[in-house]
Formats: sequence, C-alpha cells, structure tokens
Amino acid sequence: MNIKSMTMEEISHVLKDMGQPAFRAKQVYTWLHKGVRSYDEMSNLPKALRDVLTEQYPIFVPEVVRKQESQKDGTIKYLWKLHDGNCVETVLMRYHYGNTVCISTEVGCRMGCAFCASTLGGLVRKLEPFEMLNQVLFTQVDSELPISHIVLMGIGEPLDNFDNVMRFLELVNSADGMNISMRHISLSTCGLVPGIDKLAEKKLQLTLSVSLHAPTDEIRDTIMPVNKAYPTEQLIAACRRYYDKTGRRISFEYAMINGVNDTPEAARVLLKRLKGLPAHMNLIPLNHVEESPLKPSTREAVHRFQNILEDGGIPATVRRTLGSDIDASCGQLRRKYTKGE
Ligand code: SAH
Repeated sequence: MNIKSMTMEEISHVLKDMGQPAFRAKQVYTWLHKGVRSYDEMSNLPKALRDVLTEQYPIFVPEVVRKQESQKDGTIKYLWKLHDGNCVETVLMRYHYGNTVCISTEVGCRMGCAFCASTLGGLVRKLEPFEMLNQVLFTQVDSELPISHIVLMGIGEPLDNFDNVMRFLELVNSADGMNISMRHISLSTCGLVPGIDKLAEKKLQLTLSVSLHAPTDEIRDTIMPVNKAYPTEQLIAACRRYYDKTGRRISFEYAMINGVNDTPEAARVLLKRLKGLPAHMNLIPLNHVEESPLKPSTREAVHRFQNILEDGGIPATVRRTLGSDIDASCGQLRRKYTKGE
C-alpha cells in the first residue's frame, strides 16, 4: 500500500519495524498531508530515515497536465497525470460558503449513463485512497485556496470503489491530516443499492446524493443501465433505509432532459414515490456532451418542474452551472488520455 493511503497507526507500525521512536509517525503523517513532494522536505527527520523511506515508500505527486480557469465564474479544472500515466480531472469551485473540490474516484466509469461523458471509454481502473487525497491536497497547494468542502462527483462511481473511498474519507477527515469535516463532504452515487446499504452501516455525517434522474423504471431504463440491476423501487427503498439508519436527509440529483424526464406528470409521479422521505432535489439542466443527442430542458420546463415539487413538499433547487466554458460542469469530465494513447 502507498504510504499516503495509510492511517497514522499503520505508518506507526512501519516506523516501529524500522526501529523508530513512536513520535515519528505523527511527523511523517503530518508532512505527507501537507503535500510535500519528497522526504527531504521533512526537515525534522534524520537523514538516514529519509533515505530508507525514499527507497521503500515512494511519494507520488500527480503532475498538472493542464489547468483551465473559467472566465465566467473562476472555476478551475485540473487534468492530472498519475504515476502510471493515467489521467483524471478535478474541479475547484468557489462558493460563498467555501472552496469546494469535486474529485474523481475512478479512471473512467463502467456505469454507462447515456448523458455522461465520464463513462464513454469505460472503466480503466479504480483510484487508490491516496490518489483521491492527492486531488484535494494538490488542488489546494496549486491554487493556494484553502479547501473546505469536497464532493465525490467527478469521474467514476464512488460506491463501485467502496473500500478505497471509505479509507480516503477517513484520511481526509483526520485531525492530523486535512481535517475536513464529514458534514462538508457529499458522496454521489448512480444508485448501487448494496453500496448504499453498506454506507448506511457506517453512519457517516456526510451527505448522500443519489442520481435519480427519472421517476419511473420506464424512463430510467432508457438513460441509466444501472436501473436494470437496481430498479427505482429498490433504489428508493434503499434511500428510506439509509435515512432510517443515519437520520440524514437524501439529496437527489435530477438532470433535466428535454422531452425525456421533464414533464409535469413526471414531477407528480416523483412526489408520490418519494412521499414521506426527507429529501432535497437538485435539478441540473442537462449539460452538453458532444457524443450525446440529449438536450437540456427549457428554462420554463425546469421551473414548472421545480414548482410542482416544492408545492408537494420537496425542496428543489436548480443547480448553478459552473465552469461550463471549460467543460467542467456535471457530466462533462472525461478521462482524456490514458497510458499509451
Ligand atoms: N457516478 C456518480 C458520481 C458522478 S456525480 C453518480 O452517478 O452520481 C455527477 C453527477 O452529474 C451525477 O448526478 C450525474 O448523473 C450527473 N450528470 C452526468 N452527466 C450529466 C450531464 N450531461 N448534465 C447534467 N448532469 C450530468
């Protein structure tokens, strides 16, 4: 395991085996989570130890291949090259409540949603915990903007990479690391029911976002292949269990697609099916993806839909589109290059 994927306790075992005193683990852990590029920056470690660690536990730092900044809203998108040559994207958004980083959890994605660019090349591999941490860390280091919020809404399906994502959350939340509060973290899933149940068991204070995008199987089947495995009835039941277990309100995402899922009837069916479930609805006018023929709903359709939901008791907001001029909006991130391409 990469040293930056290890908890402080695990690092302390490594160092103990090297005959080091107990206090070294905290030193090493703190340096790693500050974003040092090499052990030689760890000025309070003996040279001999720095040399052994350099040899046995390499520090990987992703390389900025491209950095784009939106002229409209200051959103920044990074394309990183990982140590094996694969590339992923990260987006930094500046909200009034704090700087928010949107990270990728996989290289590519195997979920196949019809409207999303991230899935076009399929899944290449899952990201390791340290590779998710590095996105937060080096976005902060490079931009010099302190990061307070994280959304797991970039490339990949977080619940398809469950153990690595859980470990990443533990690391980024740790008091001696970046110390980012769970309440400032949102995890978005396309609806992997077993993953939602597993996450509920952890009782984390994060926000679970569920990409619902349709009120019925009839519609959802046409845009999200995952619905064949976990149809809407099972998905909504899992959301109810999640709420019962954690007491955390579910945040639903609903990409508004012209003529597909944006009718008043769809809104009414949605209300009926979510009855009694504390929820929030995030309406996202569909963002442009070149390969997809799907079009965004009209502004009128979005507002009509929003009003029906709100009148029915589900708070609904229209997500502000950030970074659209640099293809940094929801569903626009893509793998770009992989090793050897
Ligand atoms: N795989 C996870 C994480 C991705 S989050 C998930 O599916 O939830 C990215 C969000 O953007 C998801 O809700 C996704 O469905 C949505 N999205 C994808 N393509 C989009 C597009 N073209 N326009 C608007 N939203 C889109």
